[in-house]
Amino acid sequence: MRICAALLALFFSTSLSAAYNPDVLRKAADLDAERLKQADQEVSNWLAHGRTYDEQRFSPLDQINSGNISGLGLAWAFDTNHSRGLEASPIVIDGVMYSTGNWSVVYANDAKTGELIWQFDPQVDKAWAVHACCDVVNRGVAVWKGKVYVGTLDGYLVAVDAGTGEEIWRTLTIDQSRPYTITGAPRVVKGKVVIGNGGAEYGVRGYVSAYDAESGDMVWRFWTVPGNPDSKPEDDAMAMALETWDRSFPWWENGGGGTVWDSMAYDPELDQLYIGVGNAGPWNRHLRNPAGLDNLFVSSIVSLNPDTGEYIWHYQGTPNDGFDYTATQHMILAEINWQGEQRSVIMQAPKNGFFFILDRATGEFLSAEPYSRVNWALGYDENGRPIENPDVDYKDGKQFIRPSPVGAHNWHPMSYNPQTGFVYIPTIEGANEIDPDYNYEHEPGFWNLGTQPMPQPPGEMLFQQAMLRSVLGGGLLAWNPETQQPAWEVKHALTWNGGVLSTAGNLVFQGTADQKFRAFSADTGEELWNFDTQTGVMAPAVTYTVDGEQYIAVQAGWGGGLGLAAGLKPPPGPPRSRILAFKLGGTGTLPAVPERVIYDPPPRLDVSDEVIAHGNVKYRQYCVGCHGMSVVSGGSIPDLRHMHSTRHEGFKAIVLGGALSGVGMVGFSEVLTEEDADAIYAYILDEANKDKEERENPGPQWWRDFKTWVYLKVGGLIDSAM
Ligand code: CA
Repeated sequence: MRICAALLALFFSTSLSAAYNPDVLRKAADLDAERLKQADQEVSNWLAHGRTYDEQRFSPLDQINSGNISGLGLAWAFDTNHSRGLEASPIVIDGVMYSTGNWSVVYANDAKTGELIWQFDPQVDKAWAVHACCDVVNRGVAVWKGKVYVGTLDGYLVAVDAGTGEEIWRTLTIDQSRPYTITGAPRVVKGKVVIGNGGAEYGVRGYVSAYDAESGDMVWRFWTVPGNPDSKPEDDAMAMALETWDRSFPWWENGGGGTVWDSMAYDPELDQLYIGVGNAGPWNRHLRNPAGLDNLFVSSIVSLNPDTGEYIWHYQGTPNDGFDYTATQHMILAEINWQGEQRSVIMQAPKNGFFFILDRATGEFLSAEPYSRVNWALGYDENGRPIENPDVDYKDGKQFIRPSPVGAHNWHPMSYNPQTGFVYIPTIEGANEIDPDYNYEHEPGFWNLGTQPMPQPPGEMLFQQAMLRSVLGGGLLAWNPETQQPAWEVKHALTWNGGVLSTAGNLVFQGTADQKFRAFSADTGEELWNFDTQTGVMAPAVTYTVDGEQYIAVQAGWGGGLGLAAGLKPPPGPPRSRILAFKLGGTGTLPAVPERVIYDPPPRLDVSDEVIAHGNVKYRQYCVGCHGMSVVSGGSIPDLRHMHSTRHEGFKAIVLGGALSGVGMVGFSEVLTEEDADAIYAYILDEANKDKEERENPGPQWWRDFKTWVYLKVGGLIDSAM
């Protein structure tokens, strides 16, 4: 046997460090139903996405605590050799960390040293990136009986050998003629791998499916919105849902949305699997649903039988969603004292700004209170239905809706700490204009919202950035679910901050957009420690021990939906996307940040203002999602204002011809004409020259600081008036 293992190690030596015996790795990763059910008992490990099936993201480890946190330092850093957004929650078992990075690549690292044991590249079709609303990210793997499971951006579920990183099977989970993507982490429940997908903005019909963990064969599929009403509904749940859709609009051609792109939780005692369902598509409810029906099961929590996928109960927080108010946000199962009674609840802070508490056995509505500024609804009635605000109905024209489609909370996980009793929410503040567009024509494969493109703030860049900062805030909110009141709140400098971990060391860890990884006191919110991550942090941290030492690990890599689109604060140099691990007495440092390379643009084109304005509209329709508002890159995608001359020369070959499909930039000739591409180019050159002029003549720093201060004040007034 020993010779056999040595031969195996030799055989895999190109992809596998010889020090790591595949049999040992496979055996450690031999998770079964009992171990996952008891994951809370394995304090040294992080066995499941949210550590335990209840997804509390709380660890009983307290070696690192609020008394000694000042001694926390970098233990190791692993450079993924990519520069885009990282969002994964690593799984850690017996000193091995399994995680994912850009393009659904899987990494197995030594959790003590960071050394790469193996990596698996599923060879995602890079051109599929055009269907991804929010970067080529992935939120992690699941592990079961020696296999590691990943959902890929282009729709596969892949099982990988935990010992070697070799592919065992792959199953296509989507119809690739539709623009589905997978960024969420699979969950394994009783030998079935459960995976959803995204794409509601692009025109898809949502569902979640379960696959046999051993064979990869599909076991069940639960659709979240009905299909063509001329066909027989798939099950009783779809027959019920069909009655809540208005047939005057062909939602089934568009897709309807309701994608299950992130959150799930499982209660082994009740044997219920909870899924969070996304927004309706197109967004414009007056176009999609003039009768104002509920549109089940968009923006709902649905409970399913994990063996069969059969419907058990649902609760719809935003009936007839018209705001991109997904209920895909993190769900937490807990036992809390609710009005003098011990209740088994499910808690969620979805995009719509209300904190929900439901009885998780029955779905009974217990409470919804605003955890953020909200204007779309005035509150909830006793039956759990929102009382909508008629003053912001956008049927006849644009309205500022709060929260924005980014939500008061997005995918970034929360944490429930049973010691303090608080839920720590990474919050987002913002309002957004929804401007209905009734000249709707479905564009297969692209954004189909039934609304006008989001406006660009006017004026100079300092003003635009101040406006974005003023109307888009972010923070860390400690929320007491038993009183439905805030306990404390920390405001961050920027928006789109990271997910949360809390520990028995009276600590809460969160990375922030302004390139720090921070620790706060769990009971008071006092900031106790931070580390300069050189790039914005979105992912949630995890914690584990190896050889008796506690580690805190987090992925640092900037991007994701708002990170790309808002371009708020580009990092100082080309960002490196890394996994960082910290321990007491750690003395590691990160290499210096390299200089950002900036190429000056050619002069502006001699075209009319109308052409530039047309280019701006088309840019905001097709380019802004990745390349950023006002052509300011969020950092991880090339800044089009600073392009190399070859990119200028090849502009149309890239934008229309797809010359850079291989790195994820497809051609847009289906939706853009030559004239459109010329106009977009004229607009980009205009912005690039504004930037060049400002770089050459920035003016005195005190004057820029003063202007920014004034602009932020003005922005604050605008924000409070919205
Ligand atoms: Ca959405």
